[in-house]
Amino acid sequence: MHRFTSSLAATAALFATTLLPAHAELDVVSLRKSIDTSIASSYPALDALYKDLHAHPELAFQEVKTAAKLAAEMRSLGFEVTEKVGRTGLVAIYRNGDGPTIMVRTELDGLPMEEKTGLDYASRDKTSWGGREVFVAHSCGHDIHMATWVGTAKTLLGLKEQWRGTLMFIAQPAEEIVAGARAMLADGLFTRFPKPDIALALHDGPFAHGTIFYRSGVGTSAADGLEVTFHGRGGHGSAPHTTIDPVAIAARFIVDVQGVISREKDPTEFGVVTVGAIHGGTVGNIIPDSVQLSGTIRSYKPEVRARLHAGIERTAKAAAAMSGAPAPDIKILEGTKPVINDPDLVAATAEALKAAFGDKLRVSPPGTASEDFSEFAGAGVPSMMFNIGVYDQERIDAARNGGPPIPSNHSPQFAPVPKPTIETGITAMTLAVLSAFEQKNRRKGTN
Ligand SMILES: [Zn+2]
Ligand SMILES: [Zn+2]
Repeated sequence: MHRFTSSLAATAALFATTLLPAHAELDVVSLRKSIDTSIASSYPALDALYKDLHAHPELAFQEVKTAAKLAAEMRSLGFEVTEKVGRTGLVAIYRNGDGPTIMVRTELDGLPMEEKTGLDYASRDKTSWGGREVFVAHSCGHDIHMATWVGTAKTLLGLKEQWRGTLMFIAQPAEEIVAGARAMLADGLFTRFPKPDIALALHDGPFAHGTIFYRSGVGTSAADGLEVTFHGRGGHGSAPHTTIDPVAIAARFIVDVQGVISREKDPTEFGVVTVGAIHGGTVGNIIPDSVQLSGTIRSYKPEVRARLHAGIERTAKAAAAMSGAPAPDIKILEGTKPVINDPDLVAATAEALKAAFGDKLRVSPPGTASEDFSEFAGAGVPSMMFNIGVYDQERIDAARNGGPPIPSNHSPQFAPVPKPTIETGITAMTLAVLSAFEQKNRRKGTN
């Protein structure tokens, strides 16, 4: 078994002469000790950074102060930082000799909602969003990801005798509106900077801290937006026969469109259609001219996605035709594709994580949420995203036994326990990066 030694020259020579066994592995036990020591000394500063980010979240493409804080952290570590990549994103590069480039992504953005955790570092910040003043909260835990990202960078620099190559740490804006990854790619992420050999990311979730979930293949769903306007003919609520009632048409569509899921889609395949917003009318006795609906469409497979799109469109047109109304305006807004975790990368990374986390490392079912981390795999970079838990085990157990339910991401009560969550994130991501360097070198060595 190959162990990382402080002698990189010796390691390189070993790779070059392919004397290594095919299954070279990291010495995770000794690395874990170094990682723990590094985290112990860096945690107080990371805790302060986390709580500051948490208290002052910013929305998609407004993350100016957030990005500036991360830029300062990374510069102080010796990274070469480029700001304003994809509007508010940043790219931090650290070169440590010849070798592969490993990318680690964090998101920057919060959500337009009011935090109700009651924490003493809870956000009370407000901003303008879509012409309205809204509260902002880090209710998806992107602040946990940022603290983990800085902590991982710090830890990897302390271990720089253990790897050779380039760290590419990127902070992506606007994940919540699945637009930031594309904005960074369009702004030359893989042309102005090295195109990474491997991309890694993590996301927190409502389960026990110390636990890690991962998955090979499809990890998240494809998400598309749906906007429908039903046109009718307005009039008096007491004389519906003189009108074409778009409220009735919309109501029929909302119910009937679920038939696309239950009757048209293969029941063994994943697919969701949700109408999350409906706007029409002003008062009870006026039939309005039109009604607008907004929804979301989720799927894993392209053929299911195409089937849902066609079924939704047909059902909307039929609902209007049934009332003799004009054809509706239907917009399906292409969102993001599923995250596909590269099977070889996942297998090798899971081996390293297993050695550190044992049975706390678990395989997850595919998630129904969506993530624009998929864009990087779509641009040809083998990728892996895994999940870390945020709550005390006792709280999870209590919920299972009929206690208060566990708030999920996007809940106003979402409140990670910072220390063990960030520590697990740093340990797991540091090992994933070291494993990624080792995987690429091994392949080179044994080709
Ligand atoms: Zn989110
Ligand atoms: Zn998120």
